[in-house]
Amino acid sequence: MLDPHAIAAEAVAVLGDIEDPAILEDVKARYLGKAGSLTELMKQLGKLDAAERPSAGAKINEAKQQVEAALNAQRDKIANRELEKKLSAEALDVTLPGRGLHTGGLHPVSRTLNRITDLFHSIGFDVADGPEIESDHYNFTALNIPANHPARAMHDTFYVGTNDVLRTHTSPMQVRYLESHSLPVKVIVPGRVYRCDSDMTHTPMFHQVEGLWVAENVTFAGLKGVLVDFMRQFFEQEELRARFRPSFFPFTEPSAEMDIGCVSCGGAGCRVCSGTGWLEVLGCGMVHPNVLEPLGIDTEKYIGFAFGLGVERLAMLRYGVNDLRLFFENDLRFLAQFR
Ligand SMILES: [Zn+2]
Repeated sequence: MLDPHAIAAEAVAVLGDIEDPAILEDVKARYLGKAGSLTELMKQLGKLDAAERPSAGAKINEAKQQVEAALNAQRDKIANRELEKKLSAEALDVTLPGRGLHTGGLHPVSRTLNRITDLFHSIGFDVADGPEIESDHYNFTALNIPANHPARAMHDTFYVGTNDVLRTHTSPMQVRYLESHSLPVKVIVPGRVYRCDSDMTHTPMFHQVEGLWVAENVTFAGLKGVLVDFMRQFFEQEELRARFRPSFFPFTEPSAEMDIGCVSCGGAGCRVCSGTGWLEVLGCGMVHPNVLEPLGIDTEKYIGFAFGLGVERLAMLRYGVNDLRLFFENDLRFLAQFR
């Protein structure tokens, strides 16, 4: 009869090298299964003398226990190794910096537009909106710019068909608003306008805010007061200087252009103001009777003022941006600075 301890020693040695759980079960069957070598020894016990049986049986049982213990130890070893592999593969490096939250924000032109609108709204101006494809009549004729008038050459116009244009200014809404509202009116019209023009200070599409106040007691002094006050609040400079220079627009008489003291150098002269200390910020004037009278408005009784300002121009000055095109390139490194 074979020595059960020798068989157990062989089994323990074999088990120690196994990594695959399926092979482990095969080896178990080889020693402890129905036809396993230790099971076979057990069957041979009956052939022994009755006196030898107890000690031989005990030896075989000891051997079986040794093999089973080795089996269990190897099973645990394999399971632990699998768990370690899984843990290291799924490990989180808690020392990595966070990814951060990418939040969106309003475009600087939108922010500026909102700021302008809020300031005028706070002193009683209504806010209106008009069509961007505009008829030749509203864009030019009704604003005292008849066909062949030289002022049409000042507008580099995009034509849409024969009778329509992409509006070159927000001023057509002066006429549309007066047609649809009874006097007095006090309104601003923010919106997109279009001209065939593109360089560092011009883009084919830009934003204007039109202002119109028509009532019985409107004066040029009132116009100056509203605009100076607006600029001081917009730039948050209470002492901001301003001046009005005579100018020409077909739909206002008299017409003026407004300058403010340079917000960059305070008037000493710098690159932003071309060394003059002044910045041109908008055009304005008293509404021309040729605009009001065709609408049936009694110009002996009613008088009005109007102004139009460029939103990108004010945004550039407020934020210190020196190239208009930056607003339209959608570079997130630029836009993210305005959140
Ligand atoms: Zn300056």
